[in-house]
Amino acid sequence: MIPEIPLDMDQIKGFLAADEAGALYRYALQASAAGPVLEIGSYCGKSTIYLGLACQANDSTLFALDHHRGSEEHQRGEMFHDPALYDSGAGVMDSFREFRRNIRAAGLEQTVVPIVAGSAAAARHWQTPLAMVFIDGGHSLDAALTDYRCWAPLLRPGGILAIHDLFEDAAAGGQAPYAIYRMALASGLFAPLARVNSLGVLGRL
Ligand code: MG
Repeated sequence: MIPEIPLDMDQIKGFLAADEAGALYRYALQASAAGPVLEIGSYCGKSTIYLGLACQANDSTLFALDHHRGSEEHQRGEMFHDPALYDSGAGVMDSFREFRRNIRAAGLEQTVVPIVAGSAAAARHWQTPLAMVFIDGGHSLDAALTDYRCWAPLLRPGGILAIHDLFEDAAAGGQAPYAIYRMALASGLFAPLARVNSLGVLGRL
């Protein structure tokens, strides 16, 4: 059961269905007993809160990685651009302020460790084995491949790899997340555990 959250989750910007949120919480609750969790693509913190509550229950840590400059679809003139998250002085997207506000409101400042950086820079010297990795970053093939190659090898045996926005049908959505999901399965290093809406969950063998 997801604990009571002291804020209205529907008011938090982001793209995560209720059944996906529940699955993230359940798998993170199980995984974070064995080590830290890392998510890629925190945006305003919606999935971060579900994963963070699970980590908090185990006195574990959630690393929340995002450059907070928005993915392709968040940029000015694009479909999911949000003017409220645009820093017009600097001329760039900036979702970090909103992210921090939401994490604080959820009471997760002692559990969530934000990493404001790109995937490759953050992974370069990373050595800590991870109990769960949630990939929900950019949807270009380049971004998704980078996320997968940087972080999948850092999963400990028995760890969980979750990937958001899987669409078998190209008409329903971009194919990059599904491409790395298939790569993970083809590698022989992962077994499928669950499929919830557009969320795929794999177990590291
Ligand atoms: Mg997503």
